[in-house]
Amino acid sequence: MTAAVEVRNLQCRIGQVNLLAGIDFVLEPGELLAVLGRNGAGKSTLLKHLTGEIKVQQGEIRVFGAHLEDSPREALARRRAVLPQTTHLQFAYEALEVVMLGRIPHQPRGHESPEDVEIARHCLQRVGLEGYESRNYLTLSGGEQQRVHFARALAQLHGTPGHRLILLDEPTSSLDVAHQHKTLQIVKELTQEGVAAFLILHDLNLVAQYADKVLVLAERQAIALGTPRSVLTAETLSRAFSYPMSTIAHPWLDCPLIVSGNPPAHSRS
Ligand code: ADP
Ligand code: MG
Repeated sequence: MTAAVEVRNLQCRIGQVNLLAGIDFVLEPGELLAVLGRNGAGKSTLLKHLTGEIKVQQGEIRVFGAHLEDSPREALARRRAVLPQTTHLQFAYEALEVVMLGRIPHQPRGHESPEDVEIARHCLQRVGLEGYESRNYLTLSGGEQQRVHFARALAQLHGTPGHRLILLDEPTSSLDVAHQHKTLQIVKELTQEGVAAFLILHDLNLVAQYADKVLVLAERQAIALGTPRSVLTAETLSRAFSYPMSTIAHPWLDCPLIVSGNPPAHSRS
């Protein structure tokens, strides 16, 4: 089976600074990979390598088995959707028009079809924004804007046969707790359809609950890669964030529950 993403010995240096060194991982179809690390660890830099925004200087990246520069851009745009950490939309688009941007790669002659509009409506509905179709994007709350962009990414991948990949940079950063879970549940549904998902997240308990695989970046390197249970340990997380972290058994889920800080001395065994 062709991997969705294969990264081998990726290095990135900007000026005198090493941003990434020796990054290695594989993301298979149907897998949800969560990327963790403190601010400035290089998470967005890694994602920008996967989108082609930053060119590979050293090492190798394959997306669906091919080097990015060898992949036809239009075909890639139907199979790979990206949600950057920040999106700058200055125009007073209606929410549905923003989602429709995701359908452009599916319109070879540049004309939207009634089916495209139907798909965009469905995607807005899927992120809980039914009734927002005509709303001025600029007047939406930060969380609503973030969900509009998520709907755009969903619309982009809709109906593409074969391998698909979604790359999300902190997609839940502006969302309330219910919409954080809703977003991860939708990503999980995508992975069940075979979509490979690469997510940068800061909520460690969302990672514990939803990720299949976790990659931890620190000191420019991947300091851990594996299942949530093997990676989300007090030792690795304390090292990654330079902050004391603890884990306890989740009261009802089969995953660790991560708590920041150390337990008081009297409760330690
Ligand atoms: P994060 O893990 O928070 O997403 P980034 O990947 O955005 O971190 O950035 C990693 C580090 O690289 C940061 O310290 C950032 O300031 C630095 N950096 C990113 N891009 C550049 C650049 N073009 N020039 C100089 N430094 C950069
Ligand atoms: Mg970032």
